[in-house]
Amino acid sequence: MTRIVYVNGHYLPEAEATVSVFDRGFLMADGVYEVTSVLDGKLLDFPGHALRLERSLAELDMASPVTPDELLAIFRELVAQNGVTDGMIYLQITRGNPGDRDFAFPDPASTPSTIVAFTQSKPGLADSPVAKSGIKVISIDDIRWGRRDIKTVQLLYPSMGKMMAKKAGADDAWMVQDGFVTEGTSNNAYIVKGGRIITRHLGHEILHGITRAAVLRFAAEAQMVVEERAFTLAEASQADEAFITSASAFVMPVVAIDGATVGSGTPGPVATRLREIYLEESRKTAL
Ligand code: PLP
Repeated sequence: MTRIVYVNGHYLPEAEATVSVFDRGFLMADGVYEVTSVLDGKLLDFPGHALRLERSLAELDMASPVTPDELLAIFRELVAQNGVTDGMIYLQITRGNPGDRDFAFPDPASTPSTIVAFTQSKPGLADSPVAKSGIKVISIDDIRWGRRDIKTVQLLYPSMGKMMAKKAGADDAWMVQDGFVTEGTSNNAYIVKGGRIITRHLGHEILHGITRAAVLRFAAEAQMVVEERAFTLAEASQADEAFITSASAFVMPVVAIDGATVGSGTPGPVATRLREIYLEESRKTAL
């Protein structure tokens, strides 16, 4: 089955879904994105992703080419046309194609933004065997730009971080700035110590994860104690548990950091429980 991709108002077979070489997303990484998970054909945390998209666009002075309702309709149409049961929808909006290369932003009146969305089918996404064994991370310097709260498509360093992790025999990298863990290459980072869940506070240094917000809400509802503050690698090495969250990994246990096991070296009870709660609760509100 040929994948159907959404480009600027059209649903096209993927081979026909193209954008210009002058698109600022291609030339300047001048664009934002969102990844929304699909379980049982429904979208998880859609309102959160739609809201963050609006915020990312506003921070970059880009007008939104779609309303949240229009976006929901596009996502649903893509899920239906591609017969996706479990997987993801990737959405990207760029500052469009001004017809040439120029550092100055083009006039939005004559250069409309480019909007692209496509599905990635991942049958059994919520039953990943990795969640039962956990992942290993390494630490790397966080040398990204200073506005990581904007979900831009400049993903070169996180991509390099992922490769550094693979080369070291690990699955992912936690980035460290001024001695404190910021986040994973494509996820938020947590440790658990003495029953307390510790994760970095919001700010410009990390992406404000939609899964993070949901998980912290569910943790509080389950009377778990949450501390939103920066933590060091030394603290992480002494933690009882560690885990990450993201739209596509949900809650994923971390069992080793820089080659040293965390806690028992197996997924801990807090991460395991939070994964169950997250999947159960977000399925209930899926659209
Ligand atoms: N942090 C970074 C750097 C990310 O790229 C992502 C997701 O792509 C996250 C955190 C997790 O965010 P969310 O839960 O909204 O997927």
